[in-house]
Amino acid sequence: MFRLVDFFAGACLTLLYLPIWTLHFLIARLSGRAWLTFDEYLGRGGQTLKLFRARALGLPFFDHPLVAESPRLWAVLRGKLSLVGPAPVSEAWADSAAPFQLERLRVRPGLVSTWYVRSRMNIAFEDEADLALQDATLSPGERFALLARAVPALLFGSPRQAAQADRVTLFGLEMANRTRDEAVAEVLGLAATGRRKRVAFVNPACVNIALKDSAYLKVLHQSDLIYPDGIGIQLACKFTGRRLRDNLNGTDLYPALAEKMAETGQSLFLLGARPGVAQAMAERARERWPALNICGVRHGYVQPEEEAEVVDQINATGADVLLVAMGVPQQELWIDRMLPRLEIGVVMGVGGLFDFYSGRMPRAPLWMREVGLEWLYRLIKEPRRMWRRYLVGNLVFLRHLVLGHKGELQ
Ligand code: UDP
Repeated sequence: MFRLVDFFAGACLTLLYLPIWTLHFLIARLSGRAWLTFDEYLGRGGQTLKLFRARALGLPFFDHPLVAESPRLWAVLRGKLSLVGPAPVSEAWADSAAPFQLERLRVRPGLVSTWYVRSRMNIAFEDEADLALQDATLSPGERFALLARAVPALLFGSPRQAAQADRVTLFGLEMANRTRDEAVAEVLGLAATGRRKRVAFVNPACVNIALKDSAYLKVLHQSDLIYPDGIGIQLACKFTGRRLRDNLNGTDLYPALAEKMAETGQSLFLLGARPGVAQAMAERARERWPALNICGVRHGYVQPEEEAEVVDQINATGADVLLVAMGVPQQELWIDRMLPRLEIGVVMGVGGLFDFYSGRMPRAPLWMREVGLEWLYRLIKEPRRMWRRYLVGNLVFLRHLVLGHKGELQ
């Protein structure tokens, strides 16, 4: 059944590509170059699979992967490649793979895979080989769904390997461009060597707030690190010709950070959210990472007269990392006021993170994150609180992006 879909879609795409290939061929010939080259992979059952691609012409349109890699479609027509399936692997990869990883060769490799979708959306945090094993056992329905998710990933995402710059400046804010693992190492490095370093996450809602709230903007500029958070920032980068390595929201960063801290022995203080939430999050974390040292918790509704006591409580624990979850911009402003008195390595404002990891609020399902709709899930869950942030905020952000921000954030 899916084979028929493969063939039909492959034939339609071939017809679409035909004029481009003709032009590509002519240009290559006129400049005295060969048009095609091929790479060898392993197909179903370990058979040799030749995948053609067009040689680079030094012309942006023709050298774009969507054009350059399009001759792969011929393998789809010949029944050697599927539209959806584990990415093709080379013989060299197979030689060094564990036997169970070779299970991916039981099915036809695919043009698009789960890892492909997630890497284009900058959320490929799992091992490619593990995801490929899942792709090898997808039902026809799941394959259609993955194919559908590949469309926004193609349109709005960007290839991960294209990320080069260490920093991207957007709306006047300099953000660190890191993979998730690089960010974890960076934060823990700061915690180990620095004192009172601050890390902020910036998403479109933050940009909108910063445009109106100069105190918040000033504090953002004083942060030691700003990480780009969410599909909106990713899109803004794409449309301004930059590439992000990973989408670095606190929610994805936290498990990797906690896992690493369980190894390094660095301690974590959780300050924020409603009473009981930080406690519940700590209990879950201790179950998941028994070696993690959570040295203190406190809710985030701190009255001015309690501030000194809260600072003393944090300092007494000697925490290496302090997470503050009070929402934007309260948390950044609170951190800014308390920083001179805090004796911690790194402090990060993490918004609604504790609500997710305490189990108080469910996080959007993975498929929604893969198509960049986590914000829609939050809107559906809490329409009264979120409608302004997302329905109005996304449009305001888009307007800033399209019309330029006229230097407000400089
Ligand atoms: N919160 C808090 N103290 C306050 C106001 C809010 O601890 O004075 C908490 C609130 O309970 C929630 C978080 O801050 O857990 C804000 O979550 P939100 O999803 O709004 O975060 P954002 O999206 O701004 O990052």
